[in-house]
Amino acid sequence: MGMLDRAGARLTAAVDEADVLVVNTCSFIDSAKQESVDTILEMVRHKAAGTAKRVIVAGCLVERYRDEIQRNIPEVDAVVGTGELDAILAAAGLAAVQSNASPFPILAQTGRQESQLIERAPSAVNTHSRPEGNLREQQGRYDRAEWAGAISALPNYLYDDATPRLLTTPRSSAYIKIAEGCDHPCGFCIIPQLRGKFRSRRFASVVAEAEQLVRQGVREITLIGQDTTCYGEDLGMKDGLADLLDALARIEGLKWLRFLYAYPNKVTTKLLETMARHETIAKYLDVPLQHASASVLKRMKRGGSGEIFLKMLEKARRIVPDLVVRTTFIVGFPGETAEEFAELEQFVREARLDWMGAFSYSDEEGSAAFRLEPKVPRRTIEARRKQLMKLQQRISAEKQAKWIGRRMPLLVEGVSEESDLLWQGRTLLHAPEIDGKVLINDFGPHEMLVPGSFYECEITESHHYDVVARIVA
Ligand code: SF4
Repeated sequence: MGMLDRAGARLTAAVDEADVLVVNTCSFIDSAKQESVDTILEMVRHKAAGTAKRVIVAGCLVERYRDEIQRNIPEVDAVVGTGELDAILAAAGLAAVQSNASPFPILAQTGRQESQLIERAPSAVNTHSRPEGNLREQQGRYDRAEWAGAISALPNYLYDDATPRLLTTPRSSAYIKIAEGCDHPCGFCIIPQLRGKFRSRRFASVVAEAEQLVRQGVREITLIGQDTTCYGEDLGMKDGLADLLDALARIEGLKWLRFLYAYPNKVTTKLLETMARHETIAKYLDVPLQHASASVLKRMKRGGSGEIFLKMLEKARRIVPDLVVRTTFIVGFPGETAEEFAELEQFVREARLDWMGAFSYSDEEGSAAFRLEPKVPRRTIEARRKQLMKLQQRISAEKQAKWIGRRMPLLVEGVSEESDLLWQGRTLLHAPEIDGKVLINDFGPHEMLVPGSFYECEITESHHYDVVARIVA
């Protein structure tokens, strides 16, 4: 988006206003692929109706199904993989428009994918062209058997602080990607094939970007990467994430700092001590464990066990008092027995995690687990997932209840998505768009609250995942 903006594009959220539609896709699991293809077809319909002149497909679906997209949805004018972001300009015909100094436009959002729309002068298109009006929608429907996918060269793109960027998050919050790709061999996952080998951004570049964002008014930064805890290993650093957090936490004006996705055996003492030392750093650990049975974890090619994880949690909670922990599990991995699932349940009872997500195993072609047998029946997987979520719901509710009476800083987001009568916000212990919310039913001394601003709140009620608070200052 930053590149498009700098090249003169005007971004819009209105699909009908755009000349060029860009669908940014995901293909991590089958349901994401389906959603991506549905969105592409929706955009193609806009083009067929004559409101848009060009459809570009970007993102992970392109890395995996470049040929299938072009063969099955010929209405797509250009594809841009995760490793060729610069190609978006040529795909949108922007270079040509730039040279003609023509005015420009756009962007829109649909579902989880961002569909960016760029209005442009039709004569400016300089990517491959095809005859229009041959919309055979059925041909474009996603058929899993047909979309076998062949991943070619691994992408190696990495942005830096000089790369133009437009934020789509509320003005006070921003994500910074500190590394891309992954070298772990998890059997169920095709992300390394889609995103390439693990590579860290330069330390100074991340700090420079954070400083720029804070100068622009950002107050909360969330560091992301497929595995942030490996940050710097490829640059020869040891405990690179701890050092990076330490440097970022000192930036004047930054109020909240957090990182997402820790690999369990990479949660080091130095990382935990750094979290404990800085008030700015969220006492929050998102550590996807995926399972707790040693035999399942071994088949997943991840290693570890419930016992090892409990020790890690005990240490983390000792070094970082009041630590909030989130994890995710995969239920129904090939060969998962009732006993192995019972081990997972027992772990969840003992670990007493604050937040937990459970995902049904999705059989992904290209992953090592795709060849593993026996597959667990869909119904069993779904029943186990529900059972695990129910168990955690009770634990989360008990943990939430302990928050009542606590006073803490609150970042106000705006009117609640659930009711116009309430507002909502987050504390440092609620990651953006992931965890429960803080619902605000009393503005205290304020006539009105300002979204994106910080207040002091007191938690007054708790529910399963959300809590209610009143503003006190
Ligand atoms: S660590 Fe995460 S991204 Fe990397 S292979 Fe495992 S599940 Fe996939």
